Amino acid sequence: AQRLADQRQLIDKILEPFIMTQAKLKEIQKRMRNEMEIGLQKCMQPEAIVKMLPTFVRATPNGTERGEFLALDLGGTNFRVLYTHVGIKNEGGVQMKSKTFELPTEKIQGTGEELFDHIVNCITEFQKENNLQGKRLPLGFTFSFPCKQNSLDQGILITWTKGFSASGCVGEDVVGLLREAAFRKQNSDFYVIALVNDTVGTMMSCGYDDPACEVGLIVGTGTNACYMEEMKNVELLDGDDGLMCINMEWGAFGDNGCLDDIFTSFDQDVDNHSINPGKQRYEKMISGMYLGEIVRQVLIKLTKEKVLFGGRISEKLNTRGLFPTKFLSSIESDTLGLLQVRSILDQLGLKSTCDDTVLVKEVCTTVSRRAAQLCASGIAAVVEKIRENRGLEHLGITVGVDGTLYKLHPHFAGVVKKTVKMLAPECEVRFHLSEDGSGKGAALITAVACRIA
Ligand code: ADP
Repeated sequence: AQRLADQRQLIDKILEPFIMTQAKLKEIQKRMRNEMEIGLQKCMQPEAIVKMLPTFVRATPNGTERGEFLALDLGGTNFRVLYTHVGIKNEGGVQMKSKTFELPTEKIQGTGEELFDHIVNCITEFQKENNLQGKRLPLGFTFSFPCKQNSLDQGILITWTKGFSASGCVGEDVVGLLREAAFRKQNSDFYVIALVNDTVGTMMSCGYDDPACEVGLIVGTGTNACYMEEMKNVELLDGDDGLMCINMEWGAFGDNGCLDDIFTSFDQDVDNHSINPGKQRYEKMISGMYLGEIVRQVLIKLTKEKVLFGGRISEKLNTRGLFPTKFLSSIESDTLGLLQVRSILDQLGLKSTCDDTVLVKEVCTTVSRRAAQLCASGIAAVVEKIRENRGLEHLGITVGVDGTLYKLHPHFAGVVKKTVKMLAPECEVRFHLSEDGSGKGAALITAVACRIA
């Protein structure tokens, strides 16, 4: 019995840094709010970690948008080309056709020219297949990386994230790169109207059905958020009237050290071995590209301490990337029995006892709960700011959400909702899953731009 008690103490000690008290979460919320203010004032200066980038999207859809559009979606695991017909709302609304293309590593880590030539080749193929040649349609380009925009149809890439590294793109206008590739490849059947961040697309696609949707959230490969800010608070831009959607680029929260007190040794290890060490600290504690890795690190530690798998680490458990975040979803699923958890561990060459499977599940829950709670602290900071901006005692607002982790994990969304309620009790926050933000949303931004123009 003493041995069991000692083991439990050891486990608690290892997992303790992941436990977020209400006070800690309040503190994170406060720090996020602080970084938001700095970003709004100093947006492009190095001391602004949360960049708060103006997107030049000034209005959400009102339902009168019409037309035919193309959209591109670049920024995650896949690359897609879409055709969208935006019609009268009660006669079908937005209709879409799309095709997903593979993005081989040599394209995303080669030269910019190769990447953009590949993109235009995909557009051309899509236009051929759908009889769209000769139509010259307006195009919205969903490009989910931090860009400094000076207008809706221009954006300088600040840095690549999420495993992309094509050369000759950082510091360049990516719409210009796309136009040059179109010229090289002699495709003049589209013209770029809007550069769209996926968070903005997500907010807009929910906004088409729900006008209270003024926040966009992504929790997929990476994490990021956007929201409608008062123009008068956006110091970078002239003009005090109306609203402007701000792409927060909140994944970089913590890159100035302000989250060091919660960054665990396991987070540090994942960070050290990523392709962008020291960058995107908040993202690395929250999103799908990293949670599995964090769990793997903790499991290795517990095994080394001999409280798991009889102290035997398998080769697969020792290999980076072999514990994907989707394992967390399966292991934490309420309907999955211990036997099924064991079969996942079997795949990793791990012989597990009943106690082992229970502990593995506890580790997964601990890591994913912290991720959801941290994400909620960010959302609480955003909705509280909107409430204060508007001088309201009570704010009802909708967050449009996209991303596989948020959508498929059995508990992530629930923990986010519960935590936001606790941290921002004056706000009634609804979460709407967005339907294809980067496709439909990009088309709607293009449509709103065409309507306003
Ligand atoms: P992106 O953000 O690149 O557009 P997704 O929203 O599809 O793409 O997110 C991809 C991420 O989701 C990957 O990092 C992957 O680890 C994670 N993921 C895939 N399946 C699941 C799942 N069942 N549960 C939780 N996360 C998942």
